[in-house]
Amino acid sequence: MGKKQFQAESKRLLEMMINSIYTHREIFLRELISNASDAIDKIYYKALTDDSLSFDQNNYYIKVIADKENRTLKILDTGIGMTKEELENNLGTIAKSGSLAFKTENELKDGHEIIGQFGVGFYSAFMVADKVTVISKALGSDEAYKWESTGSDGFTIEPYKKESVGTEIILKIKENTEDENYDEYLDEYRLKAIIKKYSDFIRYPIKMDVTRR
Ligand code: ADP
Ligand code: MG
Repeated sequence: MGKKQFQAESKRLLEMMINSIYTHREIFLRELISNASDAIDKIYYKALTDDSLSFDQNNYYIKVIADKENRTLKILDTGIGMTKEELENNLGTIAKSGSLAFKTENELKDGHEIIGQFGVGFYSAFMVADKVTVISKALGSDEAYKWESTGSDGFTIEPYKKESVGTEIILKIKENTEDENYDEYLDEYRLKAIIKKYSDFIRYPIKMDVTRR
């Protein structure tokens, strides 16, 4: 399947994230966890008005899975998921807060203000990952899809197999460079500290799994 292009604005924000000299890269996890929490909220609110849906707190959680050997960090949720169209539109386009972030006058050298003020959302994943894969199955859908991107040259979407409703974001964590350490985003204690720092208020359980080595 051919590559689809990001919307022009999104592409610029994405490039900023990829080339970021930003020192607070760790906030990518806050962004992805808050999206996961939003996705669970959406099921929760739907269940309030839809009698065919029940919300059993035990079935809803977020899980962070680090795999050192494969250099992947997975953020999984049992939230509402995304259809093929939603994957294309919501991840190919800057959403509400993201577009706010991209006011030309705020285009600063280090990006700190931009993120601090507005939150850049999903694309912040590219500060730590050179490939981002999103596998999602929407509530009420029989089909699941895989969205994948290695950066600003576009993304692909293809059918994929996933049993349960929800979303998995898989980050292929960048290799360390002379100046930058990315290994820390695969380290259990570091990840726990980041979660504690930024996501302590999240009202769904955040579970954690680490494959060592
Ligand atoms: P924002 O959260 O401010 O809307 P983001 O860039 O963080 O912007 O996310 C863009 C959109 O992608 C979200 O609004 C949502 O529709 C969708 N999305 C992102 N992550 C998930 C997820 N884990 N589950 C369902 N939808 C998601
Ligand atoms: Mg968000």
